[in-house]
Amino acid sequence: MNLILLGPPGAGKGTQSAALVERYGIPQISTGDMLRVAVKEGSPMGVKAKSFMDAGALVPDDVVVGIVRERLEKEDCRNGFILDGFPRTVTQADALHGTLKEMGKDLDAVISLEVEVDALVERLTGRRICKVCGRGYHLAFDPPSVEGRCDQCGGELYQRDDDREETIRKRLAVYSEQTSPLIDYYRQRGLLISIDGMRDIAVVQSDIVAALRTS
Ligand code: ADP
Ligand code: AMP
Repeated sequence: MNLILLGPPGAGKGTQSAALVERYGIPQISTGDMLRVAVKEGSPMGVKAKSFMDAGALVPDDVVVGIVRERLEKEDCRNGFILDGFPRTVTQADALHGTLKEMGKDLDAVISLEVEVDALVERLTGRRICKVCGRGYHLAFDPPSVEGRCDQCGGELYQRDDDREETIRKRLAVYSEQTSPLIDYYRQRGLLISIDGMRDIAVVQSDIVAALRTS
């Protein structure tokens, strides 16, 4: 199954992808995660990406398109993949289409998670992530059993630099200008599945699974 999870920052793409990985046994491809690793390692790509990420802006299309193409060629993507946070512009969506065509693949569905702006800000300001395994938590909606520690691996939880209110507002504006046109883009191609992302994590998950079954 070849899927895209589309939605604004904080919609629940990472949370839902992690559960879909378990269920379908296909990898999650998060461009945000890959870029954060590159920044941490200080690779040339990371150095280039950092200033855009710190400002809440998008990293240039050619950089992200290149890393996704390389990732999709890996062996673990042969039975499918879940793209999380990519594509984010029409240029990226067109490039993805070209890459998949070259590989003889196609998208099966684009899941669009719909969440109101106030809820997005609340989710992002309360988001915490495990430094070791990357599992996401929320201080109020999905808290760890022991404060500051990951349930899964005991790793330390941290707050992303761009999850501060000022950068969050910028990222939401960037989403609305540059990424939201993809909703119509994929609707017109008959691939869009709209999901009400305002409900509990487990309810959203079962809705996605039910929608994929009938798509
Ligand atoms: P995205 O990957 O779309 O940026 P995340 O999956 O990281 O979003 O979710 C953002 C924050 O909101 C996390 O702290 C997560 O625990 C929380 N969250 C995700 N889905 C829900 C939900 N349905 N209800 C409440 N909180 C949620
Ligand atoms: P995310 O983890 O998806 O919230 O992404 C964090 C940051 O990484 C974004 O604010 C962008 O700066 C950058 N980024 C992630 N994915 C993309 C993408 N597909 N295109 C451009 N920039 C991206």
